[in-house]
Amino acid sequence: MNIIIFGPPGAGKGTQSNFIVEKFNLFQISTGKILREEIKNKTETGKKISNLMSSGSLVEDKVVNKLIEDIVSDKKYINGFIFDGYPRNLDQANNLNTLLKKYNQKIDIVLKLSVSLEVVKKRIFERQTIENRPDDNENVAIKRYKTYEKSTEPVIEYYKKLNLLKVIEGERSIDQINKEISDIIAII
Ligand code: ADP
Repeated sequence: MNIIIFGPPGAGKGTQSNFIVEKFNLFQISTGKILREEIKNKTETGKKISNLMSSGSLVEDKVVNKLIEDIVSDKKYINGFIFDGYPRNLDQANNLNTLLKKYNQKIDIVLKLSVSLEVVKKRIFERQTIENRPDDNENVAIKRYKTYEKSTEPVIEYYKKLNLLKVIEGERSIDQINKEISDIIAII
């Protein structure tokens, strides 16, 4: 089973993905997390993307697509994936299609956590003090939200047309959202 989870910055994708991974024994691919590791480890890629990321822009498709292929092609992850933060634009969605075909897999369900910009701002303000991410300040958060609307919403529309999309009201408690997601996945 392969799942994609969408949602604006601060929607709680990470929190929900962690929960799904545990409960359904999947493997999480969070491009944001992978990219932050590259920066932390001061790799060549890390050095190139650090400024882009802290300003709230997307990292080049070429870089992200390569990271994804490295994981999807690895036979040790046979239980399925939850893609968190990927695909973020239509080019990445096309790339994911190609990859999944190549490795004989498909997407079974697409979840979208729906959260307003007002709530995003509030959550990112709170998260700033805990996680200390350089892209968690108000202006950058607004930019990331706008990028999400412009680049990622069309990808969500694409999955909606394929009848794979479930929209989840993301402004409720973590437990309530956990429960709804569990119920959805359990019947796949
Ligand atoms: P959020 O969803 O809160 O913005 P992420 O951890 O998913 O946080 O992503 C943080 C940043 O990492 C993005 O603003 C972007 O710069 C980069 N990034 C993550 N995933 C991608 C992707 N699929 N394509 C391009 N850039 C990405």
